[in-house]
Amino acid sequence: AESQVPNGSISFKNNRNNNNKPSFFSRKEKILEHRKSLPIASVERRLVEEVKKQDVLIIVGETGSGKTTQIPQFLFDSGFCRDGKAIGITQPRRVAAVTVAKRVAEECGVELGQKVGYSIRFEDVTSSSTRIKYMTDGLLLREALLDPYLSRYSVVIVDEAHERTVHTDVLLGLLKEVQNVRSKYIKDHTSVGHKRASNGTIVEKENTNPCIGVLKQCQGRKLSPLKLIIMSASLDARIFSEYFGGAKAVRVLGRQFPVDVFYTVEPQTDYLDSTIVTIFQIHSAEVSGDILVFLTGQEEIESVEKQIHENLQLLPEEKRNMKTFTIFSSLPSEQQMRVFAPAPAGFRKVILATNIAETSVTIPGIKYVIDPGVVKARSYDPVKGMESLIIVPTSKAQATQRSGRAGREGPGKCFRLYPEREYEKLEDSTKPEIKRCNLSNVILQLKALGVDDIFGFDFIEKPSRASIKKSLEELILLGALSDELKLSDPVGRQMARLPLDPVYSKALILASQFKCLDEMLIAVAMLSVESIFYEPREKLDEARTAKKCFASSEGDHLTLINVYRTSIELLEKRKSEVGKEKPEKILRKWCKENFINSRSLRHARDIHSQIRQHVEQMGLFISSCGDDTLQFRRCLAAAFFLNAALKQPDGTYRALASREVVQIHPSSVLFRTKADCIIFNEFVKTTNKYIRNITIIDGFWLTELAPHYYAKQD
Ligand code: ADP
Ligand code: MG
Repeated sequence: AESQVPNGSISFKNNRNNNNKPSFFSRKEKILEHRKSLPIASVERRLVEEVKKQDVLIIVGETGSGKTTQIPQFLFDSGFCRDGKAIGITQPRRVAAVTVAKRVAEECGVELGQKVGYSIRFEDVTSSSTRIKYMTDGLLLREALLDPYLSRYSVVIVDEAHERTVHTDVLLGLLKEVQNVRSKYIKDHTSVGHKRASNGTIVEKENTNPCIGVLKQCQGRKLSPLKLIIMSASLDARIFSEYFGGAKAVRVLGRQFPVDVFYTVEPQTDYLDSTIVTIFQIHSAEVSGDILVFLTGQEEIESVEKQIHENLQLLPEEKRNMKTFTIFSSLPSEQQMRVFAPAPAGFRKVILATNIAETSVTIPGIKYVIDPGVVKARSYDPVKGMESLIIVPTSKAQATQRSGRAGREGPGKCFRLYPEREYEKLEDSTKPEIKRCNLSNVILQLKALGVDDIFGFDFIEKPSRASIKKSLEELILLGALSDELKLSDPVGRQMARLPLDPVYSKALILASQFKCLDEMLIAVAMLSVESIFYEPREKLDEARTAKKCFASSEGDHLTLINVYRTSIELLEKRKSEVGKEKPEKILRKWCKENFINSRSLRHARDIHSQIRQHVEQMGLFISSCGDDTLQFRRCLAAAFFLNAALKQPDGTYRALASREVVQIHPSSVLFRTKADCIIFNEFVKTTNKYIRNITIIDGFWLTELAPHYYAKQD
């Protein structure tokens, strides 16, 4: 009986607080206090009134004022979730959806996935009781495939609309139409079978609409009006207001302290080196306060983090009081919240972030910002049909947002790693993504939603005719659309269902026929994550030697599959040996020894299990080609024929579809290959034009497996 837990109060301890109040209560109180202190708290009533009055409301507010975390709670509290309806909030970035949902669940004192949840590609933490649902903009577009009128939502909030991701832009068009249909429906709820028309009007048509079945269901559920809220950190709300027929815009003021902006005197040759120098300069010369550093991606972040740790070792003990934190999109979601935890007492926190920290996520405690002035962005050449990720200068608007992060809680400093005259040359704002990306993914989705006339679709800003045309052509070549631009059944429909780029979806569908879906699932999962192989600059040789253990002479795809399978075998073996070290820990050690990025590998494992479920549901046949890798390579050729390249006399390659002259990236296992014909998955443009993730194929396969394309060619 002694060990029985007595009834009554329990005092809790947590290691975050060193005050001696029972911290369970103080945490709750603190959160309440924090919520009340946010600039948005004072306008709660007014905002709720506006939402009740307006069909579309635009809310513009400075970053950190509380828009994302508070407004959904305000709306929930004032009854917008009656009748089991939910509030959906879209974010351009997965990390924002996850961290904000976690924060709001905590503020509401509920378990994540219950009243408050999130849903991102490959990860759904919601339940039937979820009423406040954070998700990526791309995910809501996908939901529309199953629930075309988004009938479970009473309010949809498109957050971070100023980012103008391609998904946000398409979503705005879709929401505009859904809102129309829903209000029309309420006026006349006897009509069945709305045919979506590209201009937003509704054309009655019998049974040709894929949405009819669902609409009937909705009728059972009774469609209610849809409220739309567009939130943006950019002060210029005009474009959104005009698009929604003069919708009302309101402003929420934030709190901003002055930020001193510094520029370098000279241009910097290597912004990563300059970043590290600046971090240590701040650490030694400036008063306490955390540092936020903007980098372009996981690879840069991990390399800078490593160099900071090495440099710290060289400092005397008392100066090593610095701790690094990272945040980027492929960070596993249970690690993403770490960035919000304060550094241990007496330590300076250095946050290495992608531009996720620009407006999407506000981390408290920042006093210094380091801005190298670059960002990774998509770029698309509609003539050649080549999309690539390139590192480009930020816009002025981005530079301003970044420096603003230093002035949230007090005066701050921002160090821009370029001379002031360079700032003057920056574009005012970033070009919307829809104007610089391959559109086949969104076009396939629009088609699956029943939008037939893509050229006539009511985009907030129209993509160029050339890039729509190129993407339509690509979808026809992949067999997703018929020559009359109709979605093909089953291939097009299946491709639209998979949450992947159309070519990857096609590869999976083909792989089932080529009897190598087991291999293709792994390949697609591994290609969906950033950098499996870790190649630190200072240990390049060692890393490349390690890679040789996995290398396949046939190319990178089989090499990636070798890595994946070896890691799974290791895990399985360890799981069967009870009492030994934790399998995950062993795997991390193994990754380290083999220069493999364990985070990326884990991410790939998650993606693998998700896509596997999808293809199983679709009834695709999963089998392995075993040692018959020829079968797998033929399948790669059949799927990625648009990315085939032929060797030229000088050793470079010419991509057949784009006519682009490219080089094999040094990281490829085929770097020194003499193969005549290859396929590749990635085009990287730096000072050189590189291709990555390459496999050797036989040129004759192209005419055999993609005759519709290559028989016509020379
Ligand atoms: P906005 O959307 O207007 O930019 P948010 O609602 O995202 O603002 O954030 C409001 C406040 O909540 C910010 O001050 C931020 O620091 C704080 N906050 C948000 N997420 C967290 C978190 N996970 N932990 C601690 N504070 C957070
Ligand atoms: Mg926000």
